[in-house]
Amino acid sequence: MKKVVKFGGSSLASSAQFKKVGAIIRADVNRRFVVPSAPGKRFREDVKVTDMLYHCYSVAEQDGDFTEELKNIRARYDEIISGLGLDFSLDEEFAVIEQNFRDKIGTDYAASRGEYLNGKIMSGYLGFEFVDAAEIVRFDEDGVFDSEKTNSLVSDRLAGCECAVIPGFYGSMPDGSIKTFSRGGSDITGAIIARGVRAGIYENWTDVSGFLLTDPRIVKNPVSINTITYRELRELSYMGASVLHDASIFPVRKAGIPINIRNTNKPEDPGTMIVKTTGAKSKYTITGIAGRKGFVAITVEKDMMNSEVGFGRKVLEAFEQYGISFEHMPSGIDTLSVFVEQSAFEPKEQEVIAAINRMAQPDVITIDTDLSLIAVVGRGMRDARGTAGRVFTSLANARVNVRMIDQGSDEENIIIGVKDEDFEPAVRAIYDEFVR
Ligand code: ASP
Repeated sequence: MKKVVKFGGSSLASSAQFKKVGAIIRADVNRRFVVPSAPGKRFREDVKVTDMLYHCYSVAEQDGDFTEELKNIRARYDEIISGLGLDFSLDEEFAVIEQNFRDKIGTDYAASRGEYLNGKIMSGYLGFEFVDAAEIVRFDEDGVFDSEKTNSLVSDRLAGCECAVIPGFYGSMPDGSIKTFSRGGSDITGAIIARGVRAGIYENWTDVSGFLLTDPRIVKNPVSINTITYRELRELSYMGASVLHDASIFPVRKAGIPINIRNTNKPEDPGTMIVKTTGAKSKYTITGIAGRKGFVAITVEKDMMNSEVGFGRKVLEAFEQYGISFEHMPSGIDTLSVFVEQSAFEPKEQEVIAAINRMAQPDVITIDTDLSLIAVVGRGMRDARGTAGRVFTSLANARVNVRMIDQGSDEENIIIGVKDEDFEPAVRAIYDEFVR
């Protein structure tokens, strides 16, 4: 089984981290395709090499003297090379980079050198072939990632490769210039390579042992999630859990390849498995809790609303006209509430209200601000009796007033609306009910 392994910036921030990574790769002969990020932070106040590159290039772009900036970047790599005891010099590479910076070749090129150089070192350290991402990861004329072209280039190029290092984060445009993904984009490269080589698994190595059941800033030391489906993950990330980028899930999801989130600093931890489907029950009935603050509910009332054809559409059209997308729309017999993001709604409040009045002619419109939405997500909820009851009893016991309830039709999630000040207590209450 082929494995694609992607290592994040903190996993490759220093020679000490590189050694851990080397040990992980050598521990399993199936770990044949390696996607490195640029060196990240070694400690909290440290600066990522990608940010150093952005800064250095901005100095170059303004015709400033960037010698010092480039020297500091070089020092990060030299520490890694000497710490690993490699007989390797980046003299030539840095001469090319310096010249390209002087020629103002572009911000994306500048940022991409973080991964490129780390890839060079990694390839030397492991004795794996270096395959430049510019060769196989492609964007179209509009700068949109060209997934199918890339996929065939990746499979062709890597077909005959026993082992290779492919730097993350960037690819190339039809004219050959370098283009990067958005920040954190090495995750995407890893997923692309996994799909291209038809890997059995995509291991994403970072500095945490997988996803946590909820936000550690709200609940102290939450348990981690063993197995999560792509669909659950999407629900949670949509609701604010900071997990993988949607774009980084797409290629592997499409190919049905599981992702395993692992911790470079604790390789013995199994981490989190992200899968398409699973019969594995989650230990706690629920898989995760996530939420976001800052919503407004606009409630529209009208007598006999339920029998008026097109009423809901007219209300939603008022939001659409002003480019506001709605998150949820719970309804009663003669009322209908539309949940939207407060920051998007506030500047256009009066226009939207006027439009609703004009188009739907309701009896009353009320606006409820500073609301939070909390998603309780879990494939296990469908088969477990009383889950909703447990959620609401725990909230009642915590004296949280529930303003809205919405259960997804797939029965994999329950969305709860509460006042912003009740957000944290509500998340804690639900967590305690299911986990503690
Ligand atoms: N090095 C890039 C960044 O800092 C990409 C990545 O790490 O995935 O955003």
